[in-house]
Amino acid sequence: AERDVRIDWNGAGGTADGHAVSVLANVGSASDARLAVDAGAQGVGLFRTEFCYLGADEEPDVRTQRAAYTEVLAPFAGRPVVVRTLDAGADKPLSFLDMGAEPNPALGVRGLRVCFERPGVLDRQLEAIAGAEQDSGATVSVMAPMVATADEAAWFADRVRAAGLGRAGAMIEVPAAALTADELLDAVDFVSVGTNDLAQYVFAADRMSGALAGLNDPWQPALLRLVALIGQAGHRLGKPVGVCGEAASDPLLAGVLAGLGVSSLSMAAAAVPAVGSALASHTLVDYQKAAEEAKNAPNAARARESAFATLQ
Ligand code: PEP
Ligand code: MG
Repeated sequence: AERDVRIDWNGAGGTADGHAVSVLANVGSASDARLAVDAGAQGVGLFRTEFCYLGADEEPDVRTQRAAYTEVLAPFAGRPVVVRTLDAGADKPLSFLDMGAEPNPALGVRGLRVCFERPGVLDRQLEAIAGAEQDSGATVSVMAPMVATADEAAWFADRVRAAGLGRAGAMIEVPAAALTADELLDAVDFVSVGTNDLAQYVFAADRMSGALAGLNDPWQPALLRLVALIGQAGHRLGKPVGVCGEAASDPLLAGVLAGLGVSSLSMAAAAVPAVGSALASHTLVDYQKAAEEAKNAPNAARARESAFATLQ
């Protein structure tokens, strides 16, 4: 069945009744970007810039960063790309941004938090991203990882605009950010839900732990309810809400997320055709019905079953 849906997808992101939902790719390198174009991704919803520097001992200078980002953006000339600023720490340590030993790295100085102490690192990266936008011809938005409050989002957006970049966003990965999504959206142009970290922090369950994988299941109703809150905030403020965690790569869940108010989904390139095709198989009203049932289900398994029954 999966092969059939791949063949059927026409490459336009959206539901059967024409409600637009962008189908985007997660990338971390130029080869990822080429694969994403081949898979039919309409753009990039998450460029994990830290993947360019996992082995680097020193901060790459602006010229080096600009060249590296241009290589990744170039295959998407004329299309939208969301560049995430360095997400160092916890499961993705960068030695040039080492904050020293921390007893709980996932709860420590990671993501955007690193930049509050070293804003020059952020400003140099933003300068390089602005240059790469010019060099590549892609339409760039920039978003920050691990944002906890609207003040942090506003601090980030100020620096993005000072760098001459047009659109600033915040990832929602921390429960506090989800609960204050209206205020966050007031400070930035868009938000993107990182369901991997959001699940980890909502369930207090390490995302790297196999033993806790059931709690990190993206079908968990508690996670879906938070996504619903964020989707409603997006509607109220008239600003886009994306999902760029693993949740977006499940073809059945993709429709449920659209039903919760999500307007773009970003995933590994390999998942793009199946998700695009699945999204086009039902109307937005069907997805809203499936979403309502899934988020009110008593557990993850029942949430998945109810969505399957509604959408088959
Ligand atoms: C996430 O946390 O869901 C996410 C997309 O970011 P990363 O997996 O890179 O932490
Ligand atoms: Mg994350």
